[in-house]
Amino acid sequence: MSKSYECQIFHYIYSELTGEPLADIEAGTTWEQIGEDFKCPHCHANKKMFREALE
Ligand SMILES: [Zn+2]
Repeated sequence: MSKSYECQIFHYIYSELTGEPLADIEAGTTWEQIGEDFKCPHCHANKKMFREALE
């Protein structure tokens, strides 16, 4: 089952189901597979600022 992660600053949600075209992340990429240099496309917060979100 895919998960989603929400940026706690801007409430942007990364969904493993859709990936993130803005960051060249393919659909189906899990949170663990995303590099530690990933930043929120909207506010540039790093991965530590994200929390698992309920769909
Ligand atoms: Zn953000």
